[in-house]
Amino acid sequence: MSSMSTLVTNIGELVTCDGTGEGGIGARAGRALVVVDGRVAWVGAAAAAPAADEVVDVEGRCVLPGFVDSHAHLVFAGDRSSEFAARMAGERYDGGGIGVTVAATRAADDEWLRSALAARVAEMRAQGTTTVEIKSGYGLDVPQETRALRLASEVTEETTFLGAHFVPAEMREDRTGYVDLVTGAMLAACAPHSRWIDVFCEPNSPHAFTGDESRAVLEAGRDAGLELRVHGNQIDHGPGVQLACELGAASVDHCTYLSEVDVDALVAAAGTTTATLLPGVEFSTRSPWPDARALLDAGVSVALATDCNPGTCYSSSMPFVIALAVREMGMTPSEAVVAATRGGARALRREDIGRIEVGARADLAVLDAPNHLHLSYRAGVPIARSLEI
Ligand SMILES: [Zn+2]
Repeated sequence: MSSMSTLVTNIGELVTCDGTGEGGIGARAGRALVVVDGRVAWVGAAAAAPAADEVVDVEGRCVLPGFVDSHAHLVFAGDRSSEFAARMAGERYDGGGIGVTVAATRAADDEWLRSALAARVAEMRAQGTTTVEIKSGYGLDVPQETRALRLASEVTEETTFLGAHFVPAEMREDRTGYVDLVTGAMLAACAPHSRWIDVFCEPNSPHAFTGDESRAVLEAGRDAGLELRVHGNQIDHGPGVQLACELGAASVDHCTYLSEVDVDALVAAAGTTTATLLPGVEFSTRSPWPDARALLDAGVSVALATDCNPGTCYSSSMPFVIALAVREMGMTPSEAVVAATRGGARALRREDIGRIEVGARADLAVLDAPNHLHLSYRAGVPIARSLEI
């Protein structure tokens, strides 16, 4: 089969996230790009563009890397909208509602879960997300966790075993037995379907895991060949961030409650560990906003993701996350776009996505707007979508 080339031209602003310019945004006017076999083959001045088999005229719109949503929980059934309403009325989140989703997910059949998952991934693509990481964590026994990862691996390469999401009701009196199961038979069954292992490290939640339990889970995962990510410091101060940095995790996610020692650890680990901020969760749980400005100024590697899940943030929208990061967390619009693309790629240890450069995957997004500022400027308006070539 011969290669098909596609020229994307008449781009109002091309955002490459190449590390140049304010926040590393790499935004330029008058550029075009050529895609061959799903990869970027050429980027340069539109006037010098080579001939191609097909031409896509984007009529002055902004083109940018597709969003990399490095944290999502998309394999689930059930509805927890009443919990959201209760939080808005003042109730505090403690992680307990996960059990509701576990019961509903266990009761759903494969076909129902597969089609719900496909609909959620399509909803993300329609908003400009071209890569999504998907975690298990609503099955919490061997067959159910394996099923979740098998389904997730049908739609993404970035699958994460999160058996240590919640201590299920039937194991509440035997936490040690549950950690043994997660690090033993469950890990053995799930590892073939997983790239990553994750843990909900939150000692002050009775439903989640202590520092020592989290360490045991992560070390077992690493021994099984999985790479590490951590849910840390969401509900309160705790050991999650420092544990992630010490073990060389690719990402520690949430970072809502950080001490100076945590920030120092993230600065020291910036070449290895990204702090992934999930402001949709702060929105949906009425929690304090992480100080992204302080993290960026200190030199921490920062990413943005949705944490799309039925409990604490049922939004699949990276543009919403970008707008929150700009409005509430002190990021500039450029920094927020970079954190949602190249930052997410870094949190997944990927160099072939989250940027537009020769050799990168042609995972592109387009805005019904002339430049990237509109992502936060026109908050709530559906201007972003993936560019299908
Ligand atoms: Zn999560």
